[in-house]
Order: sequence, then structure tokens, then C-alpha cells
Amino acid sequence: MAAKPPKRRFSPLYVIVLVVLAASIALGTYGFRYAAQIAEKSEQSLVESNRLLGKQTIDRIENAIIDSDRSLFELVDLDHPADFAKNWNYIVKVSPAIESAFLLDENLALLPNGYVTKQKADSFRTMFMQKMLPTLRDDLLALPVEQHKHLHKEYGGRDYLLSFIKKTSNEHDYYVVLKVSLEYVQNTLFPEVLNPLWGKVPFCVRDEHDHIRYGEAVGQPGRFLYEEHFPTTLYLWRLQIAPPDAARLATEERVRRRSEFLLITMMLATILAGIAFLFYATWKEQRANQLKSDFISNVSHELKTPLSLIRMFGELLAMGKLKSPEKGKEYADIITREAERLSRLIDNVLDFARMERGPVAYEFLPGRLDEVVERSLDVYRHRLEREGFRLSTKIDSDLPETMLDENAMTLLLLNLLENAVKYGRGEIAVYLTRQGNRLRLVVGDQGPGIPAEEHRRIFERFYRTRQARGTNVRGSGIGLSLVKHIAEAHGGTVTVDSEPGHGAAFIVDIPLVEPKTEAA
Ligand code: ADP
Repeated sequence: MAAKPPKRRFSPLYVIVLVVLAASIALGTYGFRYAAQIAEKSEQSLVESNRLLGKQTIDRIENAIIDSDRSLFELVDLDHPADFAKNWNYIVKVSPAIESAFLLDENLALLPNGYVTKQKADSFRTMFMQKMLPTLRDDLLALPVEQHKHLHKEYGGRDYLLSFIKKTSNEHDYYVVLKVSLEYVQNTLFPEVLNPLWGKVPFCVRDEHDHIRYGEAVGQPGRFLYEEHFPTTLYLWRLQIAPPDAARLATEERVRRRSEFLLITMMLATILAGIAFLFYATWKEQRANQLKSDFISNVSHELKTPLSLIRMFGELLAMGKLKSPEKGKEYADIITREAERLSRLIDNVLDFARMERGPVAYEFLPGRLDEVVERSLDVYRHRLEREGFRLSTKIDSDLPETMLDENAMTLLLLNLLENAVKYGRGEIAVYLTRQGNRLRLVVGDQGPGIPAEEHRRIFERFYRTRQARGTNVRGSGIGLSLVKHIAEAHGGTVTVDSEPGHGAAFIVDIPLVEPKTEAA
């Protein structure tokens, strides 16, 4: 039967994280939008005030042109079209806004005497008749009677403004076309209308080529700029108005946007970092819990096996049904060995529990590490031989005294030996040498070795290598964390030198501390 996939546990943490994430995204979006809206509103209000001013200004300029055209159109006497030149010569001369005037019949032919101008060297008539009239033709013919229109166009690199109207008299249509003087517009009309704005707001009138026709460049104020074409008369040209301190406003706006963006981003980043940390802490907690439960089951298992062995061989001895006295000795040996293992395990667990509770009080006294190592090996040698190991040692005997906790160092060495026995085979090597102002203790074995990626982790509490977990070698995962704790308490380090398949060497380096110096 196929194994059911493990049920996924529903964790309220994920829901909380999702809610917080959604809320912070909503908050961030709202923040960005709100900041953008505020900026837009303040910008709109600035542009709005200029829009009003701009519209009024444009209206005044256009009205001035239209009014002047209209008042001149009123003066055309169509009952006597032949007298146009006679009457209009004077009118055109005194009117500052008009340069030339044409009177055309219903077929758009120029009437005799239908052209007057104040220009001396007159080339405009030919240009109008040959170039402008053909393009104006349709517009003029479609014009309702008394309707007044304008043409603002570039001819031969110059801008022209024409104002025209269709009139009727004695059942004949006539067209009156005025050429409005752009010099007058620029030199008289613009100053009249625009000069009151000087000093209040930066403004200018730009033509279709972006050349300034009046005023001064308003800079590059970006979105604060008000810009509008003249709708009816000078429609190729446009008026630009900027707020008085547009450049400052633009810079302020940029700075504000940047800091708002930064603030909101920082807020989001903090929330995200918080969530990431929460996940990390939860993951760590879960891992620690997992390790702890592994530890409990390992320890219980380790306790159970020697106890059942002790009980079984104890009962056999108690019954006295022994085939030979040698058997009796063998059983007693087994009981002793398992009892040793039990007491070592319990020592380890107790020490470990002490270490977990808080800072462990080590008792540092002057002592010789070589003596400690020799004593421990004396105790252990018997066991090694019994388990079929060869022990090779190289212990410098002229080592100076140093400050050490003898019990702790014994525990350290026993743990390393215990592991060498558990995981190794054949030969176990124990070296103690002096390396400058340090003592180096090495315990090497010919076991399966440890992969490089697990070298650091084996010193973590409860950690067991993948390989060890896969075999039935028992262990609790606390031995090496005790070793590390003890080595570091002596100001030293512990490292492992190992490759899979080539055994492992645990190297403990302890600094030499002169007892006198310590006492001083
Ligand atoms: P354990 O009680 O599991 O031996 P330790 O803390 O002493 O716990 O060791 C941690 C892990 O390091 C062991 O589970 C084992 O996987 C690995 N290890 C320790 N010593 C050796 C060794 N001499 N050879 C191979 N692996 C070792």
C-alpha cells in the first residue's frame, strides 16, 4: 500500500504573516498614492492660479486685435467700392495695427483700387495674390456673411496675421482682408497687456519655432508651467507663465518626493525584514525542537540498551547457571562495560544540562595536560584493548604547567575517545605536543570520516551527521558541543580534519597560561 503523504500542519503564523504582508503592501500603496495626490493637488492649485491669469491675458490680447479689426471693417464703404483706395489710404496710414488692406469681389478677384498699404517697397500684394490667396480660397468662399476670421501662417520664413470678413452690398459679396502688423502686436500690444505682469510672474510668448516673441524665458519649471496657445488670432503662438519661484518649487517637490519614497520604502523594508526575522526565528525554533526531540529519543535509547544488557547478564549471574567460570567473568565484564557507558552518558547529560542552564563554573588550577591525558588513557586503555583497538600515543612529557580544569579536560578527551571507538576501527592515535605557546591535543581514528560541509555543524548541540543517523551507531549529539565548550572555556579551539573514507582527526589547541601570571 502506498504510503500517505504526511499531512501538512496548518500554521496560524502563515495567516498572520500574510495579513501583515497584505496590510503593509496596502499601506505602502496608499502612502505612495496619498503622497502623489498631495503633490498633484498643490501643483494643480499653483497651475490653476496661473491658468486664470493666463486666460485673462490671452483674452485681452485677442480682444484688442479682434476689436481693432472689427472697428476697421465697419469703415468699409461698399456702396462705392471703387473709392476703396481713396478712403482707405488714410485709414490704413493712421491705424497702427494695420499694414495693408484688400478688397476682393465675390470671385476673389482684386477690385480695381482694391489694395492699399502703408509699406513703401511693396512686395506683399504679389505674395498675397499668388501664394496666400490660393490657400485661403476655400476658407473665404465658405465664410458666412459678416463672419470674421484670422489666418496666422508662415510664408517664406516669416509669420503673417491676416484678418478677413465677408460683406454683402447690393446683392454682391465682397471680401475684405487686412494684414495685421505683427511689429505693432509685439512692440505695442504685448507691452500694453503684459507689462503689468513684470516682476509678478515669469512669462513669455513663444512662436511655433519656440523663439521668444516677448518676455523672458521661464526656465524649465516642469509640470508647474502654464502654457496656452492664442485660440483665434495668433494661434501659432503661445503664452507661457510659470509660478514666481518655479525652480525652487520644482526642487522642493523633488526633495519631498524622494524623502517620501525613501520613508515608505524604509517602512516596507522594515516590515519585510520583521517578517523575514519572524520566519527565521520560527524556523530556528522548529529546528531546535526537532533536535531536542531527537536528543531525547537518542538518550532514552542509549539508556535503554545498556540497562537491558545489565539486567539480562545480572539475572544470568544471579541464577548461577553458568557453563564455566570464564562465562561468569565475561558476563561481569559486559555488565561493567555497560555500566561505564551508562555513567559516561549520564555525566555527559548532566554536564550538558549545566552548560545549557548558564555559564559553567570551571575550576582553573595549575596543572599539566600531559598528566591529565596519561591518566585518562590509563582508565580507557583497558576498554580500547577489549574492543580490539590499537592505541598509538605521542605525548610530550616535558610540558610546562598551565591553568586548566582537570575534570573538564578529562571529559573532553573521553568524549573524543568515545567517538573514535564508536565511529572508528583499527587504530586510534592520541598526540599531545607543544606548538609555541599553545598545547595541541589530537585524537585521530580510521573511521568513515566526516564530509567537509558538516565539519562546522558537528560541534552544534544535538547535531549528528547524515551518515551517523543512517547507521545504528547510538549517540545523543552533545559530546562534541561539550568538547567545544570546554576548549573555548580554556581560551582554545577545536577543529576537525577529515575527509570521507579517510578517518577523522580532532585537533584541540589550548593556550599555555603561566600560573604565576594568572595569579598576578
Ligand atoms: P554523538 O553522541 O552522536 O556521537 P557527538 O556530539 O559526539 O554526538 O558527535 C556529533 C556527530 O559527529 C556524531 O553524531 C557523528 O555523526 C560525528 N562524529 C563525531 N566523531 C566522529 C568520528 N570520530 N568519526 C566520524 N564521525 C564523527
